[in-house]
Amino acid sequence: MERYIECINPATGQVWDTLKIPSAVEIEIMAAKAREAFQDWSVTPLAFRKQIVARFGELVQENLEHLAQLLTKETGKPITQSRREIRQADRRIRFFLDIADRYLAPEVAYEDEKVREEIAYEPLGLIVNISAWNYPYNIGYNVFIPALLAGNVVLYKPSEYTPHTGLEFQDLFRSAGLPPHVFTTIIGNGQTGAYLTERIPADGYFFTGSHATGMKILEQCRKRTVPIQLELGGKDPAYVANDVKDLRKVAAALADGAFYNNGQSCCAVERIYVHTEVYTDFLKHFVQEVKGFILGDPRNESTYIGPLTRAAQLDILERQVADALSKGARLLLGGKRIPREGNWFEPTVLADCSHQMEVMKEESFGPIIGIMGVKDDEEAINLMNDTPYGLTAAVYSSNPDRARRIMEKLNTGTVYFNMCDRVSPYVPWSGRGHSGLGLTLSYHGLRAFTRTKSYQLLKSN
Ligand code: NAD
Repeated sequence: MERYIECINPATGQVWDTLKIPSAVEIEIMAAKAREAFQDWSVTPLAFRKQIVARFGELVQENLEHLAQLLTKETGKPITQSRREIRQADRRIRFFLDIADRYLAPEVAYEDEKVREEIAYEPLGLIVNISAWNYPYNIGYNVFIPALLAGNVVLYKPSEYTPHTGLEFQDLFRSAGLPPHVFTTIIGNGQTGAYLTERIPADGYFFTGSHATGMKILEQCRKRTVPIQLELGGKDPAYVANDVKDLRKVAAALADGAFYNNGQSCCAVERIYVHTEVYTDFLKHFVQEVKGFILGDPRNESTYIGPLTRAAQLDILERQVADALSKGARLLLGGKRIPREGNWFEPTVLADCSHQMEVMKEESFGPIIGIMGVKDDEEAINLMNDTPYGLTAAVYSSNPDRARRIMEKLNTGTVYFNMCDRVSPYVPWSGRGHSGLGLTLSYHGLRAFTRTKSYQLLKSN
């Protein structure tokens, strides 16, 4: 196993820190201590667990500026977007705190004069949580906040691109009064993740990352009869119908949905289908909008597009552009790397795309969008569903009934009407097909960290 991670600032390409990866023996010790900590934590009153999670949330907000700067340094996310992520993630904490009493309490499922039947929700135990770098607060909170509230202990492996953010989580939980070893950050890379899933017998494995890694994790966890949950990638479509009222506004919303966080969102809009009657006008507004995005140093307040977090993505984007152009796409904007230190790519708009092109089929995860015209709703539905992914899909129309008929036919875990690229704590976040297995958020996402015990009680002999 490699012994160190190099932390590289994606905006400059400079190595700014080196962190030690724990050895296999050290990981085994961390897991053993976490298991021991479970004995007390699992029976700690929920009120106390809630108090600690609430304090953690407060401490994150109190340290917002420092944490946002750190996130920007690790990922290249524009500073205003880093602050926004941290601020908005707090909503998830508050949501889980609000619902915990209700959904973790035992329920009476049946009762008559002879018997009483109850459902109790017990914690799973030791959770291995392997996370991604693109929204470490949001996707981290989706897992470890409900897991801890439900009485589990967590081994949290942040991405190798956001290890300092992961260490901050551990420190802030300590400061919030969380007992030792209930939440442990394990610094590491893919090999560390593989070790955690292959060698550490946990009671649940919760992963967020790419489909390719998700498939390896399924393999690595095989023969384990515990919950394995995968939040994976997407190739999320949007459809613009011919009856939209304000095409400019729709184009602006979709440009933001495609380019926010440099397109590095699991639910970023990755392909757009536009009714042919409004296609040309849509392209005009869309390009105008993207041209207005300010690209530059992610520490600047006005920057909207920074560098990509991972250098390797540049090759994928370059390949997708070349493939699309060779098959007849029209390049309306961008199309190439920006020649400066760090991982920079021009915001890229491709029109007249087709499903023969990689840009319409494979996750781009960068500042690039493929657009094509469609003759009617039926064609839009067929093309939107022509993907192995199934995370989200958006429909823009002025007619809610028409939009609902379309949304009912879309094979995704989330559908949006006149909005896109959005996550709410109140409803489940789940992917179909290559986008994942299981769910987070909503009350289902709290109970995902529990197992039921059925009590069948005879009232009298
Ligand atoms: P990734 O799959 O490269 O890495 C994710 C995590 O897995 C990292 O911590 C990495 O160290 C670890 N890992 C790598 N190889 C492993 C292995 N063999 N065994 C165990 N762990 C291993 O993904 P990424 O680049 O960090 O994140 C981007 C991907 O995540 C995109 O595909 C994006 O769509 C997806 N994502 C999905 C959601 C969602 O909610 N569905 C949210 C955010 C990101």
